[in-house]
Amino acid sequence: MSEDDALPPTLDPMGGFGPGADARTGFIAILGAPNVGKSTLLNTLVGSKVSIVSPKVQTTRARVLGICIRGVAQLVFIDTPGIFQPRRRLDRAMVAAAWGGAKDGDMVLLLVDAQRGIDKDTAAILEDLTKMPPDKAVLLAINKTDAVPKPKLLELASALDARGLFKEIFMISALKGEGVDDLAAHLEATAPQGPWMFPEDQISDMPGRLLAAEITREKLYLQLRQELPYAATVETETWENWKDGSIKIEQVVYVERPTQKAIVLGKGGSRIKQLGEAARTELEHLLETRVHLFLFVKVREKWGDDPERYRDWGLDYNA
Ligand code: GDP
Ligand code: MG
Repeated sequence: MSEDDALPPTLDPMGGFGPGADARTGFIAILGAPNVGKSTLLNTLVGSKVSIVSPKVQTTRARVLGICIRGVAQLVFIDTPGIFQPRRRLDRAMVAAAWGGAKDGDMVLLLVDAQRGIDKDTAAILEDLTKMPPDKAVLLAINKTDAVPKPKLLELASALDARGLFKEIFMISALKGEGVDDLAAHLEATAPQGPWMFPEDQISDMPGRLLAAEITREKLYLQLRQELPYAATVETETWENWKDGSIKIEQVVYVERPTQKAIVLGKGGSRIKQLGEAARTELEHLLETRVHLFLFVKVREKWGDDPERYRDWGLDYNA
């Protein structure tokens, strides 16, 4: 996959991709509170890492599509940022993006964490779901069934069923893959008829630059989440496809204060070196070629209020 390949494809004027007249295409918006397992489910379904999985809440900023083929159906998942009570500008933009995604979808899939049940975030989403157009199929998947005893699961399922919002209810473990096949089979069977919208080998329409930045950002969170919870962002500044097939990528890690810059660099540059190695390994795996990754650290105050960043993430600055 080169950066160009990763850009959204144009629709084939002869009727799109896929198996001709039988083809189905479903757009499914995945909704759920932070940490319920949306990214994990997407990765299980798509079978390749396209979204960020992190033990910290609220790390998915960009709208990501995961795409999988099941039988005659192409299932296109819109992985929306977690929905929660927006305070800062960035939070508001993320909430607007999430609901925009839900309205675009043919189906809405709400994920609920079986361990947490109907917490404040989920209660807020349930309330908003009552305002969905009635023709929109809303499905429920109760996730993390592996971590909760059966009686508690059944209790949660019947409490959610009583809301009268859901066409189907699935019990899944996104992490272990349990129940995911039943869910996928239902999505396949109910996806509207129509030509596939993406080439068969496409797993995400996220531009390569953004995907590469997300990977480095994930490494940053995993290695430095204690010291720098949400104070850093990553941008891909240059992307060069070299003649020998390898790719040169330069990225900047933006932090808010000089003290944070020192943390990211580490003693004698040891931390940034580790980060770069971890990110490069994953990028090489994903892009299936050698990657020359160069990381720089810069201080930029208040990046959370910078309109440029919102455009890069596909978010609306004025949400
Ligand atoms: P998101 O914020 O909704 O995208 O959630 P993530 O996919 O990033 O998952 C949040 C955390 O829940 C991670 O630590 C996952 O490993 C964990 N998780 C996701 N699905 C399951 C599951 O089915 N069972 C268990 N036990 N943990 C899960
Ligand atoms: Mg996520």
